[in-house]
Amino acid sequence: MNWEWTPQMRQVRDFLRYFAKTEIRPISRAADVAHEVPISFLKKVKALGISMEPIPASVGRGGDGEGVGEEQDAKRVRQTNRIAVVAAEEMAWGDAAVIITLPGPGLGGPPVSATGTPEQKERLFGVFSDPEPKWGAYALTEPEAGSDAAGIQMTATRTKGGYILNGTKTFITNGARAEWTVTFATVDRSLGRRGQRAFVIEKGQPGLEPGRIFDKMGLRASETSEFSLVDAFVPDENLLGGEAYYEERQAKGFRVAMATFDSTRPLVAAMAVGIARAALEEATDRLTQNAALSLGTPLAEATRARLGQMAAELEMARALVFEAASMADARQPNAKVASMSKAFSGQVAMAICRQAMDLVGSVGALGDSLLEKWYRDIKVFDIFEGTAQVQRIVISRRLFEEAGAER
Ligand SMILES: Cc1cc2nc3c(=O)[nH]c(=O)nc-3n(C[C@H](O)[C@H](O)[C@H](O)COP(=O)(O)OP(=O)(O)OC[C@H]3O[C@@H](n4cnc5c(N)ncnc54)[C@H](O)[C@@H]3O)c2cc1C
Repeated sequence: MNWEWTPQMRQVRDFLRYFAKTEIRPISRAADVAHEVPISFLKKVKALGISMEPIPASVGRGGDGEGVGEEQDAKRVRQTNRIAVVAAEEMAWGDAAVIITLPGPGLGGPPVSATGTPEQKERLFGVFSDPEPKWGAYALTEPEAGSDAAGIQMTATRTKGGYILNGTKTFITNGARAEWTVTFATVDRSLGRRGQRAFVIEKGQPGLEPGRIFDKMGLRASETSEFSLVDAFVPDENLLGGEAYYEERQAKGFRVAMATFDSTRPLVAAMAVGIARAALEEATDRLTQNAALSLGTPLAEATRARLGQMAAELEMARALVFEAASMADARQPNAKVASMSKAFSGQVAMAICRQAMDLVGSVGALGDSLLEKWYRDIKVFDIFEGTAQVQRIVISRRLFEEAGAER
């Protein structure tokens, strides 16, 4: 473990803890019921400059590293990723669906940062200098390709001045409202991962056919949608990184998709920690008011033991998240620990939310308690950005690679 709380991290934590309590939590239930986050709130956070932009380890845009020379940059303490996970935990404590809806490039940001040409970065990130809330999105998942991201079917056929794209993307966060969406397609299915390219699909793209906005069990205030591309001509300038990028690095298309996850998995894990912390606090508060649990009764002993276990597991999950973020700040390859943080936090957070419901009894299931909402919201943290099963496969691959490297 190689991380510490810097003054800036404490500042961000303290401010966002206050913001989550006074601004996010109060709109949580209503946003869940309405299936949307009030636009007045989104305009307010935009004006305050609060966003949830994940930062890829390889790039480290913004804040403490951007725009300085390599040498100078190396001397600075990079903390963008640690600050991002601190922010994610605090705001998810307020409401995870609300923060996933905050204006900004979202999951589309890291691939643009990591591989976009200077012109693309300026054009695509420039969209967010508009004072109105704007969104970006990331489209990898298809009806027949979720965990098996290498098996995507959306085709990209070369034509004069660009590509023709055909296929369907599904479960896209902020997909219907996005100004642009980083969209993965294959130029040749027989090439598997090596055939994949990342394209930018802009709002109003001819051939873009919006699909359903899903009615979900949890994170109901967050928009999740599908779209199809039918003979959609995408000009060369919207091939992320440009043609030369893929010619130079044949296998890079898929790596672009996967590298995004090294920075976003710890963020998603941090959000799961935030929700679990909320559930643990709520359960503890309610139990302090329960006379049957007064000290010395058998019920009190059992309950205390369970709360103790939940608190310890939450702390372990947070430690993995911080480790993954610290490695990214130190520019160390963090794929294995990022997957560990995602797999562990998702499962621990689900268990904590379930146990919190168990401990408080039937009141936890009532609509006036946010426990039932967190119980619904938390499941998806074990699914998106790669399920726990898939994370464990990623981790084991790295173990074998490391073992092979040492032989
Ligand atoms: C709310 C929400 C938002 C999302 N946002 C986005 C987004 O913005 N962009 C985007 O591209 N996608 C997004 N997704 C999609 C998400 O990333 C996928 O749902 C996820 O990758 C899992 O794919 P799947 O649902 O097709 O499940 P499947 O891949 O069909 O998996 C089904 C089950 O099989 C297991 N499984 C699959 N393969 C293996 C294996 N090899 N070994 C062991 N077990 C396996 C899985 O763990 C899971 O339990 C979102 C999903 C949700 C629910």
